[in-house]
Amino acid sequence: MATLIDGKAIAAALSLRTAEAVTALVAGGRPAPGLAVILVGNDPASEVYVGRKIKQCAKVGIRSVEHRLPADTSEAEVLALIAALNGDPAIDGILVQLPLPVQIDAGKVLDAIDPGKDVDGFHPVNVGRLSTGTGGLVPCTPLGCMMLLDTVIDDYRGLDAVVIGKSNIVGKPVAMLLLERECTVTVTHIATQDLPAVVRKADIVVAAAGAPELVRGEWIKPGAVVIDVGITRVANPDGTTRLVGDCAAHEMDHARAVTPVPGGVGPMTIACLLANTVQAAQLRSAG
Ligand code: NAD
Repeated sequence: MATLIDGKAIAAALSLRTAEAVTALVAGGRPAPGLAVILVGNDPASEVYVGRKIKQCAKVGIRSVEHRLPADTSEAEVLALIAALNGDPAIDGILVQLPLPVQIDAGKVLDAIDPGKDVDGFHPVNVGRLSTGTGGLVPCTPLGCMMLLDTVIDDYRGLDAVVIGKSNIVGKPVAMLLLERECTVTVTHIATQDLPAVVRKADIVVAAAGAPELVRGEWIKPGAVVIDVGITRVANPDGTTRLVGDCAAHEMDHARAVTPVPGGVGPMTIACLLANTVQAAQLRSAG
């Protein structure tokens, strides 16, 4: 049987360390780290995500400031708010909840965030730093994936890693992080030919396609470690719904270790956001 990597427990331990870091910053005479969260419109899923983030901030002692803007807010108004938050010394991190309404260019908005306060790690400066291995703030979900892998892998050098999905928020950054550890990385996507054959040679599989149960047990090399980022709500025959990952969980027996869905990568994402906020505060304190 594959070992289940307990994302909930690993995220809880990370949040505990984050809370200790907040206490240390405050003991050093600095105000508690501040995170500004911008939510434009009333997308129900975004409201849930923002609510969770704010709640978790309070638990570790991060001061969160919520900016809820109506759905018809203009791009200029969002950019003006970001400019104000960039200049606000009490704010260490700025998070813009995506997706944004159609009248707002998300790329323009993310580019406007001070890279030092870009706790989502989406600013081109942080993307560039990640690809050159020169520090910066790393996107939360990929960072969480690496922390989960670190619990079962000591030496990454030379391992074959296959990433399924090439999005800017998961696939590409996780590939960069694996490359930094000297894995041999293959990034696959919707146009990849014979995906099963590519996955079969992987020691590490990171599935981030958003395609429920795409990855079958027979694709997995015995002893591989599988990180399932995908999370999709699907309907049961009786009309109820359940959350399903990108991997067929019941077929993963011969993997060495797998992450469950839910309870794997999901909890790490918010825990990494909190950790990034404290890292941003520490970097700003250091000048
Ligand atoms: P995305 O839609 O931006 O990208 C999906 C990628 O997967 C694309 O590159 C596409 O080419 C590839 N893909 C899609 N279907 C494929 C297939 N059949 N075969 C091979 N490649 C395929 O998605 P995203 O934002 O990167 O998210 C991916 C999944 O991860 C989603 O289920 C999302 O909900 C989940 N996610 C979870 C968390 C978390 O915290 N747990 C965070 C971010 C994303």
